[in-house]
Amino acid sequence: MRPCLHHVISPALRDLIELANTHDFDRVQQQVRDLRGCTSPINLHGWTLTTDPATKEVVRSYRSEDEPTGRLLTTCGNRRASRCPACSRVYAADTYHLIKAGLSGGKTVAETVRHHPRAFVTLTAPSFGPVHHHKPDHTGNPRPCHCGTQHPEDDPVLGTPLNPATYDYTGAVLWNAHAGQLWSRFTTYLRRALAEHLGIPQKSLNAALRISFAKVAEYQKRGLVHFHAVIRFDGPDGHTTPPPPWATFDALKVAVGLAVGRTRLTIESAAIGEHTITWGDRYKVDPITALGDGELTDAKVAGYVAKYATKNAEGAGTVDRTLMCRPCTGRGYVRGPDGFHDRCTDCDGAGQAEPIKALPVQQHARQMIRTAWALGHLPEFAHLKLWKWAHMLGFRGHFSTKSRAYSTTLGALRDQRRAWRLAQAEAARIRAGHPTTDDNTTLVTASSWTYLSTGYRPGEELLAAQARHDSARARDEAERAKTEGEVWQ
Ligand SMILES: [Zn+2]
Ligand SMILES: [Zn+2]
Ligand SMILES: [Zn+2]
Repeated sequence: MRPCLHHVISPALRDLIELANTHDFDRVQQQVRDLRGCTSPINLHGWTLTTDPATKEVVRSYRSEDEPTGRLLTTCGNRRASRCPACSRVYAADTYHLIKAGLSGGKTVAETVRHHPRAFVTLTAPSFGPVHHHKPDHTGNPRPCHCGTQHPEDDPVLGTPLNPATYDYTGAVLWNAHAGQLWSRFTTYLRRALAEHLGIPQKSLNAALRISFAKVAEYQKRGLVHFHAVIRFDGPDGHTTPPPPWATFDALKVAVGLAVGRTRLTIESAAIGEHTITWGDRYKVDPITALGDGELTDAKVAGYVAKYATKNAEGAGTVDRTLMCRPCTGRGYVRGPDGFHDRCTDCDGAGQAEPIKALPVQQHARQMIRTAWALGHLPEFAHLKLWKWAHMLGFRGHFSTKSRAYSTTLGALRDQRRAWRLAQAEAARIRAGHPTTDDNTTLVTASSWTYLSTGYRPGEELLAAQARHDSARARDEAERAKTEGEVWQ
């Protein structure tokens, strides 16, 4: 009697054997390899047809039905490393190139930008009460914390309040919730401060100088975001023109200091009174040097920004998913057909997808989340969407932004990658003996796609694990061979 395979092997292996028996196992493997280890690929069903309108001839056609598994897999494209390490690496690499191009040129940005004044600026939140710290004094020697202990570098209490009972949690959450607005007001004040410092009318300054920004948010241990930004001076027509001679790094440094001190937002609330949102006293303005020499090189700065761009609030020890119950959007009730409020059955009226008290987080993060949730009940803060963003401690998630003039866009980089893949596919077609398409013909493309599901088949998951292993090994080798900044290239 022959043993039945179904009883002795795992379902994943059984599925892999099934895949190996499809009409084109090479293509199955290729599809998985193209995803470069994405953890939750999108499964699509549909077709794309490219025709020559003059001859009505079909130049290219693709149908997911023809795939051995009957569907097309595409990457999830998630930016966050905690969700998809593979796609976040692609995002980090794109961000690196975007920031790098804005600093040293390339990818449609003039190479002369590397001679423009450029600064790496860090802006922080003010204090909302004393926290446990681990900071060396000015001689570099470790300094004991206010609590009298010498905390090790990885002590989980670092950044948490010395006295949680008196810590201004409301102020901290509202600061995070307004940080983006504070930044945009800062950019306006920066222009004003620069004009004032140089003694030039605002209008003349605006006509002669363009200021472009690229910024990224990072969470500090105390649960507040701070911003790292690249600021560059350009001439009147942007990156292709040199800035006027008076627009120096030193002038920028003075103007940042003035703007940091002056930028403020006043918010009023019947429940909590008047609050003023300002920057903290600690800010940094460092010159960015051209490739190779100096403390902060183009590559180093681009590397920092790329790294921060793939993180969310993990640094502050919170969770990476919204706590808002989706069916009732946090309200705890849904409107029934009769117009009356019905208790939401998904969250049992709590409004939370997971109860805050059960989250696997530290007390400080939990208190920030709780405060955000409580403030979310106030109608004057409805626009801050604090229920949706409570897990981000109030910050509404625009992790990296840049002004239009700064550099190329992530979309352009994605288009470039798509074009490269199409060119690859085209080259393969030519090798297979198909006629080439004439570049001068205008072709018409029609397509129709529908979403099927997310994830791999069990057998594909095994292939993906192999792909991840291979690329991890390739990365290790690349890292050994190259210097820090070049790894992203
Ligand atoms: Zn992915
Ligand atoms: Zn301490
Ligand atoms: Zn609900």
